[in-house]
Amino acid sequence: MTVQTLRSACPLDCPDLCSLEVTVEDGRVREVNGGTLTPITDGFICGKVRKIADHLYGETRLTTPLVRDGAKGSGRYRAASWDEALDLVTARLKAIVARSGAEAILPYHYGGSNGWLSEGALATRFFRRLGASNLDRTFCAAATTAAARGIYGVVPGVALEDYVHSKLIVLWGVNPNATSIHLVPIIDRAREAGAKLIVVDPRRTPLARRADLHLAVRPGTDLPVALALIHALFERGLADEAFLAAHAAEVDELRRRAARWSLDAAAREAGVAVADLERFVALYAAASPAVIRCGWGLERNRNGGSAAAAVLALPVVAGKHGVRGGGHTMSNGDAPWTVSSEAAIGAPPAPTRTINMSQLGRALAGARDPRIEAVFVYNCNPAATAPNQVAVRDGLARDDVFVVVHEQVMTDTARLADVILPATAFLEHRELRRGYGAMRMYDSRPVARAPGQARSNLELFGELLRRMDLVRPGDAMTEDELVASIFAASPHGAELRAQLDADGVARVPGPTDRPVLFVDVQPGTPDRKLHLVPEALDRAAAATGGLYAYQPDPATDAFPLALISPAISTQISSYFGQLRRAEVPVELSLEDAAARGIADGDEVRVWNELGEVRCAAKVSRDLRRGVAVLPKGMWSHHTRNGNTANALIGEDVADLGGQATYNDARVQIARAT
Ligand code: SF4
Repeated sequence: MTVQTLRSACPLDCPDLCSLEVTVEDGRVREVNGGTLTPITDGFICGKVRKIADHLYGETRLTTPLVRDGAKGSGRYRAASWDEALDLVTARLKAIVARSGAEAILPYHYGGSNGWLSEGALATRFFRRLGASNLDRTFCAAATTAAARGIYGVVPGVALEDYVHSKLIVLWGVNPNATSIHLVPIIDRAREAGAKLIVVDPRRTPLARRADLHLAVRPGTDLPVALALIHALFERGLADEAFLAAHAAEVDELRRRAARWSLDAAAREAGVAVADLERFVALYAAASPAVIRCGWGLERNRNGGSAAAAVLALPVVAGKHGVRGGGHTMSNGDAPWTVSSEAAIGAPPAPTRTINMSQLGRALAGARDPRIEAVFVYNCNPAATAPNQVAVRDGLARDDVFVVVHEQVMTDTARLADVILPATAFLEHRELRRGYGAMRMYDSRPVARAPGQARSNLELFGELLRRMDLVRPGDAMTEDELVASIFAASPHGAELRAQLDADGVARVPGPTDRPVLFVDVQPGTPDRKLHLVPEALDRAAAATGGLYAYQPDPATDAFPLALISPAISTQISSYFGQLRRAEVPVELSLEDAAARGIADGDEVRVWNELGEVRCAAKVSRDLRRGVAVLPKGMWSHHTRNGNTANALIGEDVADLGGQATYNDARVQIARAT
């Protein structure tokens, strides 16, 4: 028996990028604990990854290729060899290319694991060279990334560790207790040192309960609230005019657009007290350093891009940058790493059509030219995670759509596949990854043996490139070659490689690993200015009236409740969904439950024009009136009729980035009869 404790890092879609200490017995993971190489991990990790052995060795783990042996969705499969399965896949793909062209093939993937090797190296090369349809990845961060890059360019925000220096922390549309647990003790330390805390969230989250100010805004009204705060700062002489004159552009245009919203009007629209908005202005104007942690909750509605832009403009208007612990944090994936997976892909984007992943149901149902005849799914579970769930499942279940799924466990999507290919998990293959919260990079070697015949994304797509005759001379194909190609293309590649080899972790290049805007780094825009009404964003939002134009609440008498689907601590995506056996309830407020005669535990229907969910009700004191919650990441076995929140969410996208609008459904709820 060999027992070893080995270092790794967690590439799951989470800002914290924990360093891990993995105890392995004869190639099997026995225990996972937090390491210390990422400072904010500080020796502890979330329960999800601590119990990852349940995922790796559970009964739903896929260990052999499977070929459908019954009607689609019947769950009947027979085991096959890799050769047989890949012969079938390549024969079907070649036939589609010959008959309809490669655009009839849609690769469908997301960030189940955010590493550059498993997410976008050989898989992307394969589909680009094949000439398949492109996929616009819009489930998360599409609107916020557009907004942040429009205003700031590619530049890191405030390091999470630097929140200890802040005198005011604003958490806007983010619940760190579920999605970034290592930020919580940092906030606690800041508060012990006297920092104030403001939380903007329709729910009373754990940190909202302890906040100095909680704005429980109606979903979708972050935009008028942020614009009203900006207007108040300008109007009351609290804007930092000297900073704006030196570092910002389109100041007067933002001043003009924000003037549409007084604090009174925004308070009415958002359903909050005007006194609370007054308090926000006073606290924010007075504090320095003050940081806004802009989350991903506010982008998931029709106004999401403009809302994120307005929130990210606040620290510019108030002049909060330039001090440690002051400014904003959006995604720190925009730190100056100067590395990119494009070098590993080694193939330019194909000039083929692009399909928005948040409109898969529409794409599969429509008579597109060419019609989608094959969907190749990896790192993703669209039957559970894509909007318009009923249409997505119907589309994937069509006999004339060939579905291949490369997966670790039997998911809702895998059950609709024609061919299932078993995938390795992150502890079983090499992964290169940089964080989007913690500014660290890891090159993690496999620490455990994959069960059965599971193969990595690189092994699978390397084989498909060969079988489809898409390998070119000089292509990087192995893990070593791909990693080397990424670093070779970067001006900091040698420095990063040396750090990884010496320390097992790399820090962001530059004079400090916690860069401060205007001190260590400058805005990433071409003219180094902060653009408050970027022309490109204004153009992109033209269809909805331009940047900062507000689209009002779409509630109707028939569907009066706003449904949101936030992450929960056991699931920030659909990953690990098989491990949750308990049903998920829909949460609604005391007032909304009483008005409908609903008590805790009652079976209810939640419905709108797209579909219906049947589940238990949970009456919550932590929700404002008019809002219901069904968490994200749920699978069909978590409700009584197999539908989850996504059955109620439409395919209309936000004002920027083609962003999915997971927090924008309007529904009705009643006791089931
Ligand atoms: S999911 Fe997040 S908190 Fe959990 S181990 Fe991974 S990085 Fe850490």
